Amino acid sequence: MNKNQNDVENTFMKTSDILTILQKKIHTVIMATIDEHHHPMTCAIDLMLYEDDTLYFLTARGKAFYERLMAHPYVALTGLKGEDTLSSVAISLQGKVKNIRHEKLKEIFEENEYMKDIYPNEQARDVLEVFRFEDYQGEYFDLSQKPLIRIPFSYQRPLPKGRYQVLDNCIGCLKCYDVCPQKCIDITQTPVKIIQKHCLHCAKCVEVCFQQAIVRI
Ligand code: SF4
Ligand code: SF4
Repeated sequence: MNKNQNDVENTFMKTSDILTILQKKIHTVIMATIDEHHHPMTCAIDLMLYEDDTLYFLTARGKAFYERLMAHPYVALTGLKGEDTLSSVAISLQGKVKNIRHEKLKEIFEENEYMKDIYPNEQARDVLEVFRFEDYQGEYFDLSQKPLIRIPFSYQRPLPKGRYQVLDNCIGCLKCYDVCPQKCIDITQTPVKIIQKHCLHCAKCVEVCFQQAIVRI
């Protein structure tokens, strides 16, 4: 198994393409961590580097964000690019992060020139520590396309769950196709087949299938 997984139907966009968009074009994302009461907290974080199939970001040792990461190194993030809902691409990702201290700090400052204005010298930069994603799973969701594009991806983890699949007891009645808002069901075969990259995961098809032939995987 490849350490980097992607949807088998997806032939036009690799995980590396998605992560490059996330790091370079979106760059600033909203990241969620868990606080000492096990409550979620969010903050805006810049993704500094994409290298060797994984992402890097940094923070200063004095920040509460740093403490949360060290106590509970699991994060979730979403980055969004677009003018409004129907012109937007959203990339969401969850994973485990590891503190790698000053490793990659030089590369991060080379790639992100603006950091030199915020932390102008070596003495000031000493307080920064880098975090690397050890594993992740996520999803690319593009509402600017019609039909929409949804691409799951992962690194050192299985692909995210939540997709719907048609079982062999489908009798081809096409009730699911009639109600599907995206018409993303291939009805040229029985059992019919959900075209995963266009599916909203709304489950309307599940509700109308009296054969109970559609299941969540
Ligand atoms: S509604 Fe159920 S049985 Fe009918 S075509 Fe869809 S999956 Fe098959
Ligand atoms: S989950 Fe929704 S969008 Fe996906 S195939 Fe079923 S009805 Fe269509």
